[in-house]
Amino acid sequence: MFDADQNKATRRNFLKIATGVTATALGLGIMPRFAEAFSMPHVTLNDPTAKAMNYVEDASTTSNTLHKVGSACANCQLYMGAASGYGPCQLYPGKAVSSKGWCTSYTPKAAG
Ligand code: SF4
Repeated sequence: MFDADQNKATRRNFLKIATGVTATALGLGIMPRFAEAFSMPHVTLNDPTAKAMNYVEDASTTSNTLHKVGSACANCQLYMGAASGYGPCQLYPGKAVSSKGWCTSYTPKAAG
């Protein structure tokens, strides 16, 4: 069983760890990127740029002959989000694309 001093120590350790994780995330610029992606509207299929670029929310559903198996927003050079969910794409300022999506502007991320 924990006594009051152990509870205080546990709480203090939790706060230290939480503060460290938050500071690290802020330092890496992760938090603003996630916060930005959450607040961004998703690109819709009716978006003029999305239409022009044949954007799809799920790369596995496209029949576009330019699509190569495995190509998706998550591994595109223009994608700036997390590996899953939605994130910003340089092609659609102020909007988020699906990490599973794809469009004809797909550019593979540089190796390394
Ligand atoms: S440019 Fe890349 S990240 Fe943006 S929608 Fe097209 S495939 Fe996805």
